[in-house]
Amino acid sequence: MNTPIISEETRERDKIARLSRSLYERGLTAGSSGNISVRLSDGWLLTPTNSCLGELDPARISRLDWQGRVLAGDPPSKEAFLHRSMYEARPKAGAIVHLHSTHSAAVSCLAGLDPDDCIPPLTPYFVMKIGRLPLAPYHRPGDPALGDVIRGLAGRHGAVLLANHGPVVSGPDLQGAVYASEELEETARIFLLLRGAPVNCLTAEQIAELKLAFKLDI
Ligand code: ZN
Repeated sequence: MNTPIISEETRERDKIARLSRSLYERGLTAGSSGNISVRLSDGWLLTPTNSCLGELDPARISRLDWQGRVLAGDPPSKEAFLHRSMYEARPKAGAIVHLHSTHSAAVSCLAGLDPDDCIPPLTPYFVMKIGRLPLAPYHRPGDPALGDVIRGLAGRHGAVLLANHGPVVSGPDLQGAVYASEELEETARIFLLLRGAPVNCLTAEQIAELKLAFKLDI
């Protein structure tokens, strides 16, 4: 019996729809917010503008080339430039997840954050999946200047928190980017729960040990 050959693009379209729905159903994104992309061997896929991540039609996910032209599917998210900037700065990134997830977005609104490291190393899992999280200063939605900021930060960081907005997280593939986004959201929740309490963060030595044991590039 012949097994039907499923193209890379079809497989990734289905994966985007499946994981987007899972994020939506678990409350990590609401309404039509959030967008997800995957790099293909030739171009990339991005969720369409004004789409709900809980109800994506895989066939209507936008396919773009690296010049920003839409080759197939519905018009892409207006936040396409966030993804493109991050892919440009991180040639090994295979997927990017951008959510307005509640706790991460709440942290992004706090005054007095360290812009180089806006969530402290509270757990080894946060250090392993996110590392140091920089804060990109506030820009109005759609401002292309934010693309330049991301390009500047993403060479050194796999994830960036946009002030008064939410996180942009890259990964080697879509599942990896989704797991890292979830780890960030859970750590943001822990960070908010602990506010005002004396906290033991991981020490520089403990972080160095993690880097060595897990070959982290952070
Ligand atoms: Zn956004």
